[in-house]
Amino acid sequence: MRTTDVVVVGGGITGKACALGLAQLGLQTIEIAPDLGQSVASPQGTQWGQRIYAFSPSTQKLLAHLQIWDAIDHSRLQPVRDMRIYGDRGEKNDQLHLSAFEAGTPQLAWIGESNLIEHTLDQASRFQNKLERISDVVEKIYIDADGSTLHLKNGGSIRAQLVIAADGANSPIRNELGISASEESYSQSAVVANWLCAYPHLETAYQWFLPGGDIVAMLPLPGKQVSMVWSTSTEHAAELLKLDQAQWLDQFSSIANGVILKQLGELTLNSIPAAYPLRKIRAKRFIGPEASPKVVLIGDAAHVMHPLAGQGLNLGLRDVAVLLNVLGKRESFRSPSDIVLLRRYERQRQGDTSALLWVTDKLKKLFSASSNTERQLRNWGLGLVNKSHFIKQRLIERALGEIDFE
Ligand SMILES: Cc1cc2nc3c(=O)[nH]c(=O)nc-3n(C[C@H](O)[C@H](O)[C@H](O)COP(=O)(O)OP(=O)(O)OC[C@H]3O[C@@H](n4cnc5c(N)ncnc54)[C@H](O)[C@@H]3O)c2cc1C
Repeated sequence: MRTTDVVVVGGGITGKACALGLAQLGLQTIEIAPDLGQSVASPQGTQWGQRIYAFSPSTQKLLAHLQIWDAIDHSRLQPVRDMRIYGDRGEKNDQLHLSAFEAGTPQLAWIGESNLIEHTLDQASRFQNKLERISDVVEKIYIDADGSTLHLKNGGSIRAQLVIAADGANSPIRNELGISASEESYSQSAVVANWLCAYPHLETAYQWFLPGGDIVAMLPLPGKQVSMVWSTSTEHAAELLKLDQAQWLDQFSSIANGVILKQLGELTLNSIPAAYPLRKIRAKRFIGPEASPKVVLIGDAAHVMHPLAGQGLNLGLRDVAVLLNVLGKRESFRSPSDIVLLRRYERQRQGDTSALLWVTDKLKKLFSASSNTERQLRNWGLGLVNKSHFIKQRLIERALGEIDFE
């Protein structure tokens, strides 16, 4: 049986960033996921990838700490200088405007492709001699007083002091260990697609809350291009996926008094639309069983939220940042799976996670409610918040996310 300090299970951005960071701390690290055989190809050309994310400054700080931020092809990253969020009455005053200039920060976020970041993480991982990657699936995990044993699908076994579960929303490790999670379906899917736009997007991320609970976000990409995230009922999402170019334009004309087309000009489809089911998940614990934790949950394995704030991955990468801080500063007599360290990690992640899950959930529900009072309240609320410099500054601080490396 192989032995190592840490095993990271999962090959999404969270798992890859965590494995690289742990190896950089000098811990012998093995990363296991089914899709680690080949490195992700660098995105090229004028067709942008299908998975587009808003990356917050906290993510930028982590990627800089991992020494990969400067290696990313910045011509494929779009800084966001303004965010404009509109209520569902179509009235001019029902809008919230967040501005990087007013907040005294160069940008509020960056928009870019998932494979751009994955490719750069893959390149950096190749040169990290403390990191080994294995293309396989973890089938079983056993925890004892000294560590964990993982059994892999291809027959091998690995013994590790600490296991990091970065194995996504359905986390097999979380389930294997019997860590319960509260889960709620939003009965919605997010339809994503990239569009060429006739007018410049002005480096602005737009979001429209529509009557009935739909939310349409148009995020700026380099050049005259935007990435759409349209959260809608599962049935409507299935219909949207079947539309041709002309039918899409009809859809855009018929919603929000046509403001999307007025803002961005004629839109031309530049990718194949795809839909993702939306739900909220929060694991009861972010570390393994009480008696002998030995496991840490990060990313979607620990929490999943509605994409209306574009924060799911950013939150997962803040898990990584905190874990690297806790393990990097550990006292020399503590092993990486020392219960004190794992509890430190869990304590530090609870507040950020609960606050973000709560806010996105409440916003989603407030804007889905159909009573007149709630309608007036939310639109009035947007306008009111827009007038308060203090609240806006706090909102921006939360969107930027706070992490520090020592
Ligand atoms: C429409 C939409 C838009 C979004 N937009 C944003 C955004 O703008 N900004 C943002 O921050 N977030 C956004 N998110 C959230 C973001 O997509 C997720 O939070 C993020 O992808 C989760 O990454 P992860 O690495 O934790 O999990 P995943 O990417 O799901 O990775 C899980 C990994 O675990 C592996 N795995 C699973 N089981 C096993 C096993 N048994 N053994 C080994 N490996 C295993 C899988 O193969 C995979 O590699 C959005 C989400 C949606 C749905």
